[in-house]
Amino acid sequence: MSRHVLVLNSGSSSIKFQLVAPEKDTSQPPYVSGLVERIGEDDGIVNLKFAGEKIEISEPIADHADGLSKAFALMDKHEVGPHSVEIAAVGHRVVHGGRLFSGPELINDEIIGMIRDLIPLAPLHNPANIVGIEEARKLLPDVPHVAVFDTGFFHTMPPAAALYPLNAEVASKFDIRRYGFHGTSHEFVSKQLPELLGRPAAEINQITLHLGNGASCAAIRGGQAVDTSMGLTPLAGLMMGTRTGDIDPGIIFHLYRNGMSIDEIDNLCNRQSGLKGVSGVNDFRVLQERMDAHDPDAWAAYQMYVHQLRRYIGSYMLILGRLDAITFTAGVGENHVGIRRDSMAELENFGIKIDEERNAQPNNGPRLISTDDSKVKVFVVPTNEELAIARYAMSFAH
Ligand code: AMP
Repeated sequence: MSRHVLVLNSGSSSIKFQLVAPEKDTSQPPYVSGLVERIGEDDGIVNLKFAGEKIEISEPIADHADGLSKAFALMDKHEVGPHSVEIAAVGHRVVHGGRLFSGPELINDEIIGMIRDLIPLAPLHNPANIVGIEEARKLLPDVPHVAVFDTGFFHTMPPAAALYPLNAEVASKFDIRRYGFHGTSHEFVSKQLPELLGRPAAEINQITLHLGNGASCAAIRGGQAVDTSMGLTPLAGLMMGTRTGDIDPGIIFHLYRNGMSIDEIDNLCNRQSGLKGVSGVNDFRVLQERMDAHDPDAWAAYQMYVHQLRRYIGSYMLILGRLDAITFTAGVGENHVGIRRDSMAELENFGIKIDEERNAQPNNGPRLISTDDSKVKVFVVPTNEELAIARYAMSFAH
């Protein structure tokens, strides 16, 4: 039986989990995946997917400990749980590693304390991540638990990219700098480029575009991140499903002075803006349906999204100086033909030429979508953050 890693992504009211066998053929779906939702409520939900089956139970879930043990019990009931397969390690997604963590860490009490010290930088995420870690350690005390940080990959960014032109004393006092997020995904995808291009990593300059519900891009030189669009928080950068991305910070003062509270502005910028704020919908599939029905708001949102994307691609081309590859990934990047076509349109002068037929193929593993004579190669590479976390965690297993 292959050794498995339990991958946990613990949020404020939900826990996503997967059992992955990272040493096996990794093109296979996870052995089991699931979601605990509405933690703390009477109508909590645990769902489970394995071997083509889908199971869902609804019952009160008191807290994260309760949610995790219900998920374990449900897996055990169907003989796909941590007591039916060999668990070699547990990998925990941790959102903010601040300046303390540049790579995955074997978790002990000291590491938990350090993740706790970073709570001011991620007040919603890190506390939930810590609860998930503590509860999982109680349930599986005999295996290594490993923290994999969303920010880790961006630790190498040079100061010119990582620092904000903010008063240095204030920036230092509050640890304000560009940390970047989605690092596990950008790293996972960018690491496949040496094989796809047949060249050593050290020689490759690339841009990775993670376009999902959240969206970010990264400039990577010789395997190391040199810039990224998200910042102190995941609100910065590209226009997203419900987040603004970059806006004039003066807008926030303006709204505040006109009577909105900080919490209202936070909610507006994080949850009521982006595609949803402009068009009413945040899911790209629905947005496309509205565009097909000639909804002008849907078209306006789409065009803004493409414009922002091109703005970042252009600036990263200059930052890198020479560009070898651009890679699209995540829900939108892997599946939306139009976004790839339109964000890459009319860039022949910059050595970028999309092959319409290749671009129109359905999502099915890593693939080239540029023409053979395109100087910059454009790829679609499916991301798999859970597998990346599982591989890291397995590297700490006995
Ligand atoms: P992610 O955060 O990577 O799971 O991406 C989620 C987003 O990807 C969804 O909100 C959709 O907008 C988008 N998406 C997923 N599947 C498709 C598809 N087949 N076509 C277009 N967009 C998609």
